[in-house]
Amino acid sequence: MRAFYHPDQALHDPQQYMRYGRINPPKDVPVRTTRLLEALATRGIVPDLPGESPDARLAVHTQGFLEYLETAWDRWVELPEHGPEVWPNTFPYWSGRPEDPSRPPCPAESIVARTGWYLGDLSVSLGPLSWTSIRRSCDTAVAAADAVIAGEAAAYALCRPSGHHARADRASGFCFVNNTAVAAARLRTKFPRVAVLDVDAHHGDGTQQIFYDREDVLTISVHADPRNYYPFFTGYVDERGTGDGGGCNLNLPLAHGSGADAMFEAIDAGCSRIRAYAASAVVVALGFDAHVRDPIGVLRLESADFAGVGARVRALGLPTVVVQEGGYAIDAIGDCLTSFLTGFDGTT
Ligand SMILES: [Zn+2]
Repeated sequence: MRAFYHPDQALHDPQQYMRYGRINPPKDVPVRTTRLLEALATRGIVPDLPGESPDARLAVHTQGFLEYLETAWDRWVELPEHGPEVWPNTFPYWSGRPEDPSRPPCPAESIVARTGWYLGDLSVSLGPLSWTSIRRSCDTAVAAADAVIAGEAAAYALCRPSGHHARADRASGFCFVNNTAVAAARLRTKFPRVAVLDVDAHHGDGTQQIFYDREDVLTISVHADPRNYYPFFTGYVDERGTGDGGGCNLNLPLAHGSGADAMFEAIDAGCSRIRAYAASAVVVALGFDAHVRDPIGVLRLESADFAGVGARVRALGLPTVVVQEGGYAIDAIGDCLTSFLTGFDGTT
């Protein structure tokens, strides 16, 4: 499988995030990319460098949000006694319901206000080099989609930072630009019906929101039950899409403590839906935080189980873009990727 990655994606180096009322060390650390690159190397895969595709981001995000991400650091350091990272301390009221339309641009000029408007929680701090990594991560997803559009059967985008929690106008959950959604929108320039299959342990709430009223992109997410797990407010079975997109969203929450059997059963249900939808291409949002040793995980997959995920994706027989999402067990994610690719290639 061809792969794509840009070394600038390792520059984003968050220093903190809030969990259970305490500032924690970051989980999306740059070494994640090293472990995933090592896994590719063991299979003889050398990733290609992506080109720059700034316009691709506008297919799924608002201009105001993208301008904020690009300029936030420069404006932040103009604040007197500013902290080491762009971090919100105020949030506008917002219901979180998936059928809510995107908001207007932030009405206030203040960088403090804009940070509260566009950064949805305390896990998306921005440092001086974050924007460079964010746009390169998106470029990587675009390059993988373009390779499939050009005729490759499958391509892997080693994206970091991740994207599936990013909504049209809001970053959250370690995610800034929604790489998976950008890849799906890109595929739509060739393929009439695109499916997104999200197997990250967290609900792909951003991807769901972006395509919630569209019938040309089917969004499916397999994830840990959100009643007591991030992103909490969405990811429930009654969220099925709205308007033209009615019936084009499927959430498959798993009980906490679930292992491979439950995960595979849900993925099989998702794949049945993709076949019934007659998708012409698929984007896999591939997270490894369902691993039993993930530090913020609640599911119980072993590294080898991801081969079963890859095999099921391959069995769809569709042009496939695989976009890297989460996975924070540093000593396991390389094995997870190796297993996924092994299962996908049918070499087990
Ligand atoms: Zn996740």
